[in-house]
Amino acid sequence: MPAPGILWLTRDFRLRDNPALLAAIADGPLLAVFFIDRLTMAQGAASRWRLGRALKSFDAALRMRTGGKGITILRGEADDHLPRLMERLGARRLHQSDWPTPDMRALQDRVRAALEPLGAGLMLHPGHLLLHPDAVRTGDGGVYRVYSPFARAVQKLGPDRPAPDAPSRITPCTEPLGGIDPTGLDLAPDLHRGQAALERFAAPAGEDAALARLDQFLDHAAAYPDGRDRPDLTATSGLSEHLAVGEISPRTIWARAALRAEMAPEHAAGIAKFLSEVIWREFSWHLLIDFPGLPAACWRAEWEGFPWRKAGPELLRWQRAQTGVALVDAGLRQMWLTGRMHNRVRMVVASWLTKHLLIDWRAGLAHFADCLTDWDPAANAMNWQWVAGCGPDAAPYFRIFNPEKQAEQYDPDGGYRRRWLAGFGGAAGPEAAAWAGSIPPAWDAGPWQAGPASMLAEGREAALAALAEFRATTSET
Ligand SMILES: Cc1cc2nc3c(=O)[nH]c(=O)nc-3n(C[C@H](O)[C@H](O)[C@H](O)COP(=O)(O)OP(=O)(O)OC[C@H]3O[C@@H](n4cnc5c(N)ncnc54)[C@H](O)[C@@H]3O)c2cc1C
Repeated sequence: MPAPGILWLTRDFRLRDNPALLAAIADGPLLAVFFIDRLTMAQGAASRWRLGRALKSFDAALRMRTGGKGITILRGEADDHLPRLMERLGARRLHQSDWPTPDMRALQDRVRAALEPLGAGLMLHPGHLLLHPDAVRTGDGGVYRVYSPFARAVQKLGPDRPAPDAPSRITPCTEPLGGIDPTGLDLAPDLHRGQAALERFAAPAGEDAALARLDQFLDHAAAYPDGRDRPDLTATSGLSEHLAVGEISPRTIWARAALRAEMAPEHAAGIAKFLSEVIWREFSWHLLIDFPGLPAACWRAEWEGFPWRKAGPELLRWQRAQTGVALVDAGLRQMWLTGRMHNRVRMVVASWLTKHLLIDWRAGLAHFADCLTDWDPAANAMNWQWVAGCGPDAAPYFRIFNPEKQAEQYDPDGGYRRRWLAGFGGAAGPEAAAWAGSIPPAWDAGPWQAGPASMLAEGREAALAALAEFRATTSET
């Protein structure tokens, strides 16, 4: 029996543009292994649920290529299992698609240390990003801290090309190792009733679904620049969920989109705008690599002194989507029920929490991390800091979204708010009713009720007053 090629799966559930998979196959019969470990279980419930769907879908895709052998799923820690597994199978190389979060970096270090005595090593492969972070540097070799020059640099360099075609036949490692059958896998038992709701509103998972979604989006990309801020329309790609679990790579997105822009010039401007958003994702990851504290600490350290509140009834009402502000509550209900929320609404919801309610952005980040099916540690952290005003290239704190004006502009007919709020301008539709049916009884939600109009101005004044006081006591300008 030749030594197998071992692939340690984390966030790379695809056959196309997966250099780690290709390298493992080149080493020998494939053993693809995934761990239900502390890191996985520390993740938010909705994104764990989504990860489970990605696992099942990729397992089925692998079985088709190998004649029946899918992913070996093990409970426990990678640094504990892998050395024993590799010693037993006589493997010397472990392949992983790099997922450069601080926690994963620490785990990779532990795995390396555990493999060393065996003379075995961990090979990290690209695929999660458009470009290796070391390739995108300022003139003096530093890290970009502002989006626009970063985006220009990415455009100029051009993203790396995707790896060649997906393998059509794969020789599997047939050593019996046990493991968990993915078909019965439930990674998020703690979702309780939320699971049925997510399932009801879920978009199809898997690599084929991601590619189909991209192609469908590119057919209508001309409408993206005007439509992308409208939560009442379906104008964005919906690819973030697929990207979050690696069912599609950003390089594949880039290559397919660039080709389409060439073939269909009427979509070129829309595609350029779309790719500029994909670069925002890239920017967030490059920042996280440079500043691993991004999800936990203000990027501009002086903002640690800002008098954000950490808890209180306002936070509870915000988490329960009962703030009395229609666009805010609609967005939070959409997220609770579907795991998704439109980007424009995410900004408004985050601004309401950090500015009108003066609550710490980290409380909002944690709630999003628990509820989003597209949870991405870099994008979530960068965007929360951006809205809160303490991040790199952030919106200034004094720029405070007025949710009513945002709603007038981006949900002009109220279609989005009506959809999610029972009691907002009509009878409850199926989504609003489903939200009410999915929440814990303690939330005690009757028909949606608007809060007093005065809270818009009062919250804004309180935020500006806090900023003035903060400025007077720090060097913040
Ligand atoms: C407070 C807040 C928290 C967020 N948390 C997340 C998160 O956990 N996971 C996540 O993927 N996105 C997050 N975003 C970014 C953005 O809201 C989503 O990427 C977007 O809504 C996904 O929808 P789409 O795929 O249809 O986007 P499209 O408009 O089709 O954009 C294409 C892709 O570009 C990327 N992108 C778009 N906007 C952004 C952005 N502002 N920042 C980074 N990348 C972007 C995404 O990968 C997206 O799939 C957050 C934004 C805010 C304001």
